[in-house]
Amino acid sequence: MTTPETESLQFLVRKNLAAKSPAEREQLLQNPGFGSVFTDHMVDLCWSEKGGWHRPRVEPYGPISLDPAAAVLHYAQEIFEGMKAYRHADGSIHTFRPEQNARRFNRSARRLSMPEIPEEYFLQAIRELVSVDAEWVPSGDDQTLYLRPFMFAKEAFLGVRPAKKYGFYVIASPAGAYFTGGVKPVSIWLSETYARAAEGGTGSAKTGGNYAASLLPQSEAYDKGCDQVVFLDAHGNVEELGGMNIVFVKKDGTLVTPASESILDGVTRNSLLQLAEDRGHTVERRPVTLAEWRDGVASGEIVEVFACGTAAVVTPIGRLKAAGFDDEQPIGELALSLREELTDIQYGRREDTHGWLYRLA
Ligand SMILES: *Cc1c(COP(=O)(O)O)cnc(C)c1O
Repeated sequence: MTTPETESLQFLVRKNLAAKSPAEREQLLQNPGFGSVFTDHMVDLCWSEKGGWHRPRVEPYGPISLDPAAAVLHYAQEIFEGMKAYRHADGSIHTFRPEQNARRFNRSARRLSMPEIPEEYFLQAIRELVSVDAEWVPSGDDQTLYLRPFMFAKEAFLGVRPAKKYGFYVIASPAGAYFTGGVKPVSIWLSETYARAAEGGTGSAKTGGNYAASLLPQSEAYDKGCDQVVFLDAHGNVEELGGMNIVFVKKDGTLVTPASESILDGVTRNSLLQLAEDRGHTVERRPVTLAEWRDGVASGEIVEVFACGTAAVVTPIGRLKAAGFDDEQPIGELALSLREELTDIQYGRREDTHGWLYRLA
């Protein structure tokens, strides 16, 4: 693309005068958990109908002031992305396939009637933030700096139409190993009462509303003693978990993953399936009915089931529970072996033959 919009932006960097001291930061990086510790800075970029993308800034991390009539607070025009920065043994910092997140962000934007952001601006925003907050990228085992780009409607107007003003932000949060004490299989509750997405809905967009809709079924899952919830579509096809895609491994080595308009197209899933294809596995993207899943496990045709997404990478599924049944799931070796291959690439421990890494600093 060579439109003027895709030239790089001149970010104004306003340093945080109250930034954490190196000692405070090191203390926080010891055990950051997930999603509750934030770096010293954030990216703040505006869009308006008149001015397009403007006012690019890296500024001190802190509250955003909003008019109470801001459209996002009423009509939920909001989208986000989730990606990670990895520190390699030589100290360099990389992220993983960020152009995929940028493209998906723009697909989400189109579905929510929001402005698209040139891919180069999206990537530049991430580079700018990570270069200012580079010391926040942890170096411990399985630690990362989680990056959260998001955009929402800022215009103060209660009429129902796409807003004319938006804010694009990136915040960053150091994250520890998702699983403490090794990867453990999770139990999944099958939601037969609630749906996460609908045909023609927003299921394939990464938008907060999908998560809002998944919270009640997720609480139901907890009440039933399960870790996560899995959703079906109106035809009884398996979709995905609240925030992770699902993959079935068959006896002959074929990997099958549900495909439909209402499923979020995960970068982790696509990458794992590519690695499996590289090893000679066949990959199928097609509808999978609940009956195919249950019968396959019962007959031994399905030998492994796993969930995947950026936050947890890969999680074997150990149990599928519903109101009328409780099926133990077979545990195999493939999920964890693909997980290791993927994380080895991400942390620079294995050759990146697909050119997936993107150097940030
Ligand atoms: C983000 C997300 C995923 C996983 O996508 P990745 O690109 O692998 O992180 C899966 N399902 C939903 C609903 C999501 O929001």
